[in-house]
Amino acid sequence: MQLPPKHILSKSTFMKGCQCPKALWLNKFQPELKTAVSAQQQAIFDRGTNVGKLAEQLFPGGVDARPENAYSYQQSVVDTFQFIQLGHEVIYEAAFQYNQVLAALDILVKKDGMWKAYEVKSSTSISDAILQDAALQYYVITQSGLPLVDFSIVTINTSYIKNGEIDVFQLFKIESVLDQVLQLQPMISLKIEELKNSLKQTEMPIRDIGVYCNSPYACDFKKYCWKNIPDNSVFDLMGYASASKAFDLYKKGIVLLSDIPSDFKLTENQEIQVSVHKTQVPKINLPALDSFKKQLVYPLYFMDFETYQSAVPELVGTKPYQQIPFQYSVHRLDAPNAALVHFEWLGESGTDPRNEFLNNLLNVTDNNGSVIVYNGSFESSRLKELAFWFPQKAAEIEALQNRMLDLMGPFQKKHYYLPQMNGSYSIKEVLPALVPSLSYDNLEIGNGIDASASYYQLQFEKDNVVVENTRQALLKYCMLDTLAMVKILEKVNDIK
Ligand code: SF4
Repeated sequence: MQLPPKHILSKSTFMKGCQCPKALWLNKFQPELKTAVSAQQQAIFDRGTNVGKLAEQLFPGGVDARPENAYSYQQSVVDTFQFIQLGHEVIYEAAFQYNQVLAALDILVKKDGMWKAYEVKSSTSISDAILQDAALQYYVITQSGLPLVDFSIVTINTSYIKNGEIDVFQLFKIESVLDQVLQLQPMISLKIEELKNSLKQTEMPIRDIGVYCNSPYACDFKKYCWKNIPDNSVFDLMGYASASKAFDLYKKGIVLLSDIPSDFKLTENQEIQVSVHKTQVPKINLPALDSFKKQLVYPLYFMDFETYQSAVPELVGTKPYQQIPFQYSVHRLDAPNAALVHFEWLGESGTDPRNEFLNNLLNVTDNNGSVIVYNGSFESSRLKELAFWFPQKAAEIEALQNRMLDLMGPFQKKHYYLPQMNGSYSIKEVLPALVPSLSYDNLEIGNGIDASASYYQLQFEKDNVVVENTRQALLKYCMLDTLAMVKILEKVNDIK
């Protein structure tokens, strides 16, 4: 059998085109404008691929039609056809092409003479985008001549708890989406023609920015299309549903926060944000800040955790996507103006860090004094989980939780708000607004997602220099989180 001609659309470019035809066009004609995928993001994608491999165990003994590389999918189409002809009943990464649209499917199964399709996702539920993606696969497979009696999505079951070897039949959920996929078929054929036509255009489609730039996925051409949106724009409005509000304003030609009309309906926090921005006068609620300060009991402990999560639980007693603490930083301040003392702990990637993390943390936080955290519900939830795993330490953990005070509260409630906070109460914005000499910008690892991915990848790293540099970058990042709290509290204390 001859190789089919190179495809024009694939599943991923079809999805890109459904989100925005301009993104599809840019992807083909000006891919250099795309924001590069970071090593950390790539590691997260690769872990998604591993989930797909694991799910193959649901239907063992299949043949593999995976391409050797991203350019040899046409060979996969031929291989899949031949596997079907030879009577194979389970095919992994089965590839089909119809009318120059290519679609690969994770698992194709023949049961009682009838074919069923299974697409594996590392998500925990089925979104509209997943259904659209499945509808395209169904279209290509059936139009290319293979009838399907069912189409299912395989997702992660969040209530599964690892106990020994992974039980794939418990870890994964299988749900038929055949009805939804059939309903979408007329739309799929129209959309394919529309997108193929748009790829024949020599001129870039004219499309202004819109909510679709972030939905269902953040578009990788945002840097290019959003380049004319200035700082302090309506897109910096804080809070839930701010995107639709921002686009309402944008469509009326209002781009700057300072141009928002006074009669435009905003939430209470957005009103504060806009009025502080317009007047450049900070908002300070002295009584509320005083009552926060009155709760402080020295010695103060500033505490922060870093965690990682994996779709497939790796440690006994854990669930999919459960946060596993692998690092902490604690700064201790015995009295106002006393010298700061720093403690830190970082686990070995690839081992179970929980017990050592907990023992070490309980040792350095002692048993009296306030424990300052930022976004305390995160640390509190991790401590609760540790108490569940180590019930013999539950009383000590509860005592630590009872000492916790959330420094984010005054900023979240807008008791202290400066125009430089850009509508946010995240420590990443609050710190440079209050202490311009300190920021996360120049750190090698500068956010929790990168910290988590970098730590997780360390277990596969063979180069000791890379391991050491990454560990140092992790320590530096977590240390800044607690130092930031020390400095922010100093600024809060300065306000009289
Ligand atoms: S950034 Fe928005 S407008 Fe630009 S290509 Fe992406 S989705 Fe389309």
